[in-house]
Amino acid sequence: MIEDLELFNELVEILLNEEHFNPVAQPIETEELFTSLDLNLNAEPAIDDDFKITLSQIIKSTPKTASTSFFNQLFGGRMSRAVLGDLLAVMLNNSMYTYKVAGPQVGIEKTLLRAICDLIKYPKSADGTFAPGGSMSNYMAVLMARDKYDPNARQRGITRPMTIYTSDVSHYSIGKNASFIGIGKDQVRLIPSNSKGEMLPDALEKQIIEDKQNGMLPFFVNATAGTTVLGAFDDVDTISKICKTHDLWLHLDGAYCGGVIFSAQYKHLVNGIEHTDSFSINAHKMLGTPLSCSILVTRDKKYLYDSFSNEAEYLYQTDTDDFNLGKTSLQCGRRNDALKLWTLWKSVGSNGLESMVNSQFHLAEIARTYIKAHPDYELYSFENSISVCFNYKNIPAKTLCTQLYKDAQLMVGFGNFKGQDFVRMVTINSVLQEKDIRNFFTTIEQAFS
Ligand SMILES: *Cc1c(COP(=O)(O)O)cnc(C)c1O
Repeated sequence: MIEDLELFNELVEILLNEEHFNPVAQPIETEELFTSLDLNLNAEPAIDDDFKITLSQIIKSTPKTASTSFFNQLFGGRMSRAVLGDLLAVMLNNSMYTYKVAGPQVGIEKTLLRAICDLIKYPKSADGTFAPGGSMSNYMAVLMARDKYDPNARQRGITRPMTIYTSDVSHYSIGKNASFIGIGKDQVRLIPSNSKGEMLPDALEKQIIEDKQNGMLPFFVNATAGTTVLGAFDDVDTISKICKTHDLWLHLDGAYCGGVIFSAQYKHLVNGIEHTDSFSINAHKMLGTPLSCSILVTRDKKYLYDSFSNEAEYLYQTDTDDFNLGKTSLQCGRRNDALKLWTLWKSVGSNGLESMVNSQFHLAEIARTYIKAHPDYELYSFENSISVCFNYKNIPAKTLCTQLYKDAQLMVGFGNFKGQDFVRMVTINSVLQEKDIRNFFTTIEQAFS
């Protein structure tokens, strides 16, 4: 093991060097992937030297998500204390289903869940779990809601035509999950959003009333804290009142920007969060932990047990349900995703997490200010968003992003809102500083001068 850890350190040094000197890996054409790298598996073991050379080649050509040129996705960067926790989790290799097998790791997970429930002012009855990603957190939420409103569903399958509500710019997992829970994608009502990408509450209520009149059972509303393209925040407070009036479960998908709960300056963006029935947040997005670290909390843990607990004598042999986390999980064996967030939070404090979140908004503000001041650019995004959407010199966004990628200049993606295509630069990457934002624009201007 020690030898492999030494090799690990050597390889990581190569990676860090690459990130610094070649922040965007030269992409390999897919047609050449299997000939340019030795990915084959053979009957004979690899010779150590070859193994090391192959690994270093793979590292060099793998996209660099922790470099200062990565603006492509809703994650990026590297918080070293979180990496430390994740590496330890790999070495410890516990499975989170029982206290017997995970011991204090259970306490770590419970501490995080409690802290998040407290932050959003959920009552003492609240609890949560870790899911394999934001899509799966949303899945767990809608499944709990289904079982609340059609308690026979778990045993017999759904017995009533049920409908779900989410905005037309919400994450695609909502539709996918509707098929998973057996109600079907056709029963997802895509509620129109305003010019900023925020769900229209009046349109929501009108649709709920109409569905009720048509004999449907409206049961679940998904609101979003940070829509995937524009980074918009739905009006949770207003939507929660509609859900209360008509008795629907309200879930807040905070996979992207739920991290605002840590910021005194930005938590107003999720005003009313305490009235939701469930809330999900991806720590691997705004909080910068390694993938994946997705948390789901619900205001009454009863619903977690109702939907996810199963008896299993071969598994649950000691301790109470409260410490056997398998009883509230989508999975059986489960990776320890909690430790990396705990090591980060423990070492930077809540204040440190707040600074991270604030800095992302600050950098986005700097980017918007730059765009507004330069006539070659057109801006499409709004205040209070860490997605900065723009076009440059009317170059089609896809052309611009693809050329920057192929030339190994920048990793940035494009998006679309109400028929308009644009470049979407995201300031979530935890290693970014002001100079990297300026460098981003300079790189574009030089590439397309
Ligand atoms: C990223 C994202 C998700 C999905 O999270 P995964 O961890 O990628 O499954 C869901 N909702 C929103 C708003 C997101 O931005």
